[in-house]
Amino acid sequence: MDEKYEFEKKYREQVLRCSSCGFCRSVCPVFGATLRPAYNARGKMLLLKEVMDKKIDLDDELIETLFQCTTCANCSTNCPSGVEVPEIIKQARKDMVHIGSCHPAFKGMNEVLEKHTNIYAEDEPEDFERERNKQAECVYFIGCVGSYREDEATLATLDLLDKLEVDYTLIDEVCCSGVLEDVGYQIKDELARVNIDRILRTGAKTVITGCPYCSRTFNNKTQYAELKGKGVQVVHISQFLKDVDFNVQTDKRVTYHDPCDLGRHCGIYEEPREIIRKIAPNFVEMESHHANALCCGAGGGVRGAYAKNSIAMARRRLEEAEAVGAEVVLTECNSCVHNLSNAKLRKQKFKIYNISQFVGNLLKDA
Ligand code: SF4
Ligand code: SF4
Repeated sequence: MDEKYEFEKKYREQVLRCSSCGFCRSVCPVFGATLRPAYNARGKMLLLKEVMDKKIDLDDELIETLFQCTTCANCSTNCPSGVEVPEIIKQARKDMVHIGSCHPAFKGMNEVLEKHTNIYAEDEPEDFERERNKQAECVYFIGCVGSYREDEATLATLDLLDKLEVDYTLIDEVCCSGVLEDVGYQIKDELARVNIDRILRTGAKTVITGCPYCSRTFNNKTQYAELKGKGVQVVHISQFLKDVDFNVQTDKRVTYHDPCDLGRHCGIYEEPREIIRKIAPNFVEMESHHANALCCGAGGGVRGAYAKNSIAMARRRLEEAEAVGAEVVLTECNSCVHNLSNAKLRKQKFKIYNISQFVGNLLKDA
């Protein structure tokens, strides 16, 4: 078979398996925000079939469709034919980058990480008034969003770890660069090397990440396999805190937003809820939750490349929180906190926090 692109070699059978049933339509955040059928998984699969049939080519004309996907995996979770849409899209994006057809914002992300150590091209990281790179049982790895955009949430989480007397250190971390895999590029080996060396130098046997994407990258990508090989386990903060008894409660009506990277991509649904049920007896689920939770619209490079649509996706999620009368929306991902907070509904009555930040605030007020 004359296969021109890698996505055909790897995923031909999967693309052909799409029956155009349209089950993916109602769960796709991009479709929900744009109402453009070409932008949901079915539309994307139809286009890729046309490419495989040589009716059209992968070129700039397909940028709007193929780069407008948060890789949330809500389509593949609900797909009766088992089509792994995000993996196909990520490979098609790599093929497009290879031939020079790429959204400028995605190209920019790769260029930034060639010259800088974080996705925001910031020079000076916040020091969070903590000593770094010391010997400790745990490393707390913050991630770019928590380091440079959601520093208040990060500070509250660090205060909580202090209060719980966790023996941890921060390191001079650099971007894990996992996001590049989603936007058509590769993880940067040199950035991975820096993180691995700095983690190992602390002697820590546990890395706690505040960011589900960093957790995913450290646990699943070959560039970081050395950590596991040297006996270092990587856990998300919700896993680390799930058995702690905080002895504080709120009587507010609390709901929880499942981050796609934590839920659908890592299968972590119950640990955050275990924490929330202990601190918030008035916990209520939104209409969509667990594996069916609506995406906040931040992932897959969409927040940077399609900001307006990304905010529209976040608003749809906030409307679900409003519909259940939430007074507090909790999640455990700085990207979700950032995007949901920026979206803000008219007359919105609730605020959005990471669970660890919210628990830290409750303990401070107790
Ligand atoms: S749910 Fe699956 S099979 Fe149905 S249209 Fe979407 S991708 Fe295709
Ligand atoms: S991964 Fe998410 S954004 Fe992308 S096509 Fe599937 S449902 Fe839509």
